[in-house]
Amino acid sequence: MPERRIVIAVDGFSSCGKSTFARLLAARLGYIFIDTGAMYRAVTLYGIEHGAVRGGAIDRDRLVGMLDDIAIAFRFNAARGASDIYVNGVCVEDRIRGIEVSEAVSRVSRIPEVRAKLVALQQRMGAEKGVVMDGRDIGTVVFPDAELKLYMTADPKIRAHRRYLELQERGEEVSEAEIERNIRERDEADLHREISPLRKAPDAIELDNSRMTLEEQMAWIEPILAERIHAAGGGDKNGK
Ligand code: C5P
Repeated sequence: MPERRIVIAVDGFSSCGKSTFARLLAARLGYIFIDTGAMYRAVTLYGIEHGAVRGGAIDRDRLVGMLDDIAIAFRFNAARGASDIYVNGVCVEDRIRGIEVSEAVSRVSRIPEVRAKLVALQQRMGAEKGVVMDGRDIGTVVFPDAELKLYMTADPKIRAHRRYLELQERGEEVSEAEIERNIRERDEADLHREISPLRKAPDAIELDNSRMTLEEQMAWIEPILAERIHAAGGGDKNGK
């Protein structure tokens, strides 16, 4: 049976463990993992560092004018066992998760020109299949024909606590209440924006992981994955 690789789209709310889940799934399948939120964050960081995003204000025309100067790539970091994101050859992985970027990213991500650039790049990255991509619009816009679509949710308080622990580990001092407020604001912005709002694709399967460990989520996905890879036309249940 020839190897048959599929596209797995993982959409859902901020900080509900999409990336952790998607990264582990990709590692187990030998697939590429792409965190599309990191791409929107990288554009936001570039805007902050080049004067197009200041405090709460975004100079939209200036940011759009900069888009051709922003080259985004992922490179595998063996020490971390995951890919780092690079802008114009410089690793920005450690700078994109802070509160300044988090506060501005939803407004940057609703600019049509920003989305057009990043969606095209995401489609190129997934063209060969064998990819797990996480974001907000992967199953609806980027890969509407993805063989497997997941829609992840979790209780906002649990999400805030997870993000709090993550930021603490990175040495950032932010209160849990401030994180929860940011998460709720981003949920609102992502759900109600005009272009590519977060919504569940009709054929997506919902996963509420509020009270599930990562291993429980992996066990949950296994039979679904086996069925989808089989339906796509071959391979064993590991897609190889
Ligand atoms: O996933 P993460 O929380 O890092 O994403 C940061 C922000 O990027 C989201 O709040 C959303 O506004 C935006 N985003 C998006 N479309 C995607 C991925 C992320 O608009 N596919």
